[in-house]
Amino acid sequence: MAAVLRRGMLSSQRFSRLLGRVLGSQRDASSLVIAEHNGESVVPLTYNAIAAARQLGGDITALVAGPDCGKVADTLAQSEGVSKLLVAQHDAFKGYLPEALTPLILEAQKQFNFSHILTGAGAFGKSLIPRVAAKLDVSAISDIIGVKSEDTFVRTIYAGNAVQTVQSGDSVKLITVRGTAFAASPETGGSATREDVGVPELGQVGTEFVSQELSKSDRPELTAAKTVISGGRGMKNGENFKLLYDLADKLNAAVGASRAAVDAGFVPNDMQIGQTGKIVAPELYIAVGISGAIQHLAGMKDSKVIVAINKDPDAPIFQVADFGLVADLFKAVPELTEKL
Ligand SMILES: Cc1cc2nc3c(=O)[nH]c(=O)nc-3n(C[C@H](O)[C@H](O)[C@H](O)COP(=O)(O)OP(=O)(O)OC[C@H]3O[C@@H](n4cnc5c(N)ncnc54)[C@H](O)[C@@H]3O)c2cc1C
Repeated sequence: MAAVLRRGMLSSQRFSRLLGRVLGSQRDASSLVIAEHNGESVVPLTYNAIAAARQLGGDITALVAGPDCGKVADTLAQSEGVSKLLVAQHDAFKGYLPEALTPLILEAQKQFNFSHILTGAGAFGKSLIPRVAAKLDVSAISDIIGVKSEDTFVRTIYAGNAVQTVQSGDSVKLITVRGTAFAASPETGGSATREDVGVPELGQVGTEFVSQELSKSDRPELTAAKTVISGGRGMKNGENFKLLYDLADKLNAAVGASRAAVDAGFVPNDMQIGQTGKIVAPELYIAVGISGAIQHLAGMKDSKVIVAINKDPDAPIFQVADFGLVADLFKAVPELTEKL
């Protein structure tokens, strides 16, 4: 009787969570990976999200939605580990707005009852996953860096200064994946079956995609580059970043920046690395005129080799650097470029 009374006192939300935990432990994982793309190519982060899904075991379905997704669907169908591809091609998904994609994902969830829904922890995933999670009345699990089991995940908190292990009792886990923590799943080697899905009734979306301006660069993409050279406030102005571009040309490197350099208007904000910027983990990271604040370290400290050039021998960046050069960057960088 007491047990019955206690159960009666549970909120319906808590009860469905407990039920989800029981049911969740009884079924194999079946994951949905939401592909991020631009109509032409798949954003590399998607393959890191597939890698995380593969660690969960079970079947993996990928969802491709957009006004034009034929080419991307053909590419993703070959992705190793993906057994099924859901394709939703419609103008309603122009701009890949989370407001439009959410009803589509909810519909897919209703139909297939996935145990996990994942995407990369970029701007796309960060705006989409919390919205879908809220609609499903479950918690979003953001920016995971490890999978311990089907319901237990590792993520960082306090700008990367502490590592947290979270266990979720939700019936479906809504997850964003930190790309640098999962080696990309191979782009070929699979042959997924393809299913075209209808577009659900979107109702009043309330947001309209108007236009976008994308910065174009011939340099490697920051989050995918093997070498990254970043400049900080010590660069003094935007023109001086030319020193870094010249060095980057020699090393086929991407160029990033600290937030101080972005806030001062030296370079655009898509170059920012750190807690509120991009997270990178290249083979080689060269920090030039950057002090090494924890918020910057949060975005680059997993780099394999870190080199710091700073005129202040006490700069905190030297504590994480494998190689440090105490020097004036305006002398050291041109010299390095010339020697290379
Ligand atoms: C909530 C929050 C989020 C944040 N997110 C981010 C983030 O995502 N990314 C980020 O980078 N920061 C972030 N910050 C800001 C962060 O705290 C620091 O203010 C910032 O990283 C400092 O940038 P910096 O190292 O370029 O500048 P400074 O700290 O001013 O360092 C400049 C360095 O250049 C060196 N220097 C100057 N002249 C020369 C020279 N001629 N030769 C060699 N060295 C020279 C100096 O010795 C100094 O060490 C965030 C802060 C907050 C509060």
